[in-house]
Amino acid sequence: MRQEWLDKYDLRLPRYTSYPTAPHFHAGVNAATYEGWLADLPADLPLSLYLHIAYCAEMCWFCGCHTKITQRYEPVADYLSVLFAEVEMVAARLGRKRKARHIHFGGGSPTILTPEDLSRTIDLMRKHFDVVADAEIAVELDPRTADEPYIKAMAKAGVTRASIGVQDFDEKVQRAINRIQPYEVSLRVIDWLRASGIQDINVDLVYGLPHQTEASVIDLVERAADLRPKRVALFGYAHVPWMKKHQRLIDEATLPDVPERWRQYLSATKRLVELGFVAVGLDHFAAPDDELAIALRERRLFRNFQGYTTDSASALIGFGASSIGALPQGYVGNEGSIDAYKRVIREGKLAVTRGVAVSDEDKLRRAVIERLMCDLSVDLDETARRFGQSPDYFSSELAKLKPLAEDGICAISGHVIAVTEEGRPLVRAVCAVFDTYLKAGEQRHAKAV
Ligand code: SF4
Repeated sequence: MRQEWLDKYDLRLPRYTSYPTAPHFHAGVNAATYEGWLADLPADLPLSLYLHIAYCAEMCWFCGCHTKITQRYEPVADYLSVLFAEVEMVAARLGRKRKARHIHFGGGSPTILTPEDLSRTIDLMRKHFDVVADAEIAVELDPRTADEPYIKAMAKAGVTRASIGVQDFDEKVQRAINRIQPYEVSLRVIDWLRASGIQDINVDLVYGLPHQTEASVIDLVERAADLRPKRVALFGYAHVPWMKKHQRLIDEATLPDVPERWRQYLSATKRLVELGFVAVGLDHFAAPDDELAIALRERRLFRNFQGYTTDSASALIGFGASSIGALPQGYVGNEGSIDAYKRVIREGKLAVTRGVAVSDEDKLRRAVIERLMCDLSVDLDETARRFGQSPDYFSSELAKLKPLAEDGICAISGHVIAVTEEGRPLVRAVCAVFDTYLKAGEQRHAKAV
């Protein structure tokens, strides 16, 4: 990585899992807005469903998720009963049974549920939604809390994909982030998954953690590749202790500096590609026969709150505290506090407290940003025309991109912008040129790398 890029582009930029991005959600979009948007959803629009299980048994200090720690099952069971009520409430407002193509369990830790409760939850989704035969049902899985009966329950309920939270296999790193998870524990869970017939296995890794080095991260991805996952996600640790107070428990002196983070990212990425994975966008790697790699080749890759996806459903319904939904009309965010979420749902109301309506201009800019994040290239002329705009709609953005092109981060050919392979880690800087909400110094996102 060139030193001048580090100096110039170590910006705090959004990850563009939505546009407008979450900091621009506001209270003007509320439960009443959501009611109206749900009622107006076209009847034949397939849905994608997200369920947020907002509990974990123990806090990992690097965690950036929305979760609450509990050692007892009672709060989890109580939360689940409220989640069920929310599913029933939303299904009633949708009217007839809608088609669902994807169901994603995230958290928190979905593996904190008992096997019976996981099965009951999937049954409930099937009762209220027409879950298509080839639907992807994915579960984020914490190997420390997933036992064999849980994996069997997943398989029996029709789960097709599991994302294994690994982060790092190195015990020193694990101790520094308060997540002790021996390699054998991850291996054991993967063996159970395969034996149960769940072959689509993702492994989630993190670089930029305490004590990690370029060499240790290369070792990490090599060991992860030995597990033969279909996908590897390689996320940069986002140290935001002003937002996530538990991250203060991480000794900042043990964190790699920015140049070291770059080296870790670049070397791990290079190694994963050498090992046969296809680089997908910013931080995903897929086996060549995985649906994500195929979608990339066929230019039908999408980006949503879970990252990169083959899910083209234009309505994502989120359930649970802090969950986010994406409807054709805009984005909605549920109440983040578990207690407040429970109270509102128990009162028979929807729990949306914020969101943003998406204007026609937002849709056009979102399409540009999505293509850049997915394909690393976009035809501005074609995209503008598709949204009824003239080809010179983005002339000022093209001018702003010139310095990035001169730096070698992207290439401009007429109206086609292509992020260079060397510029891939800085794709967010290219996207930011199209983001009219982003004002310099206004937000504090994770670093671009
Ligand atoms: S298991 Fe996942 S969600 Fe829970 S604290 Fe650890 S990283 Fe966060």
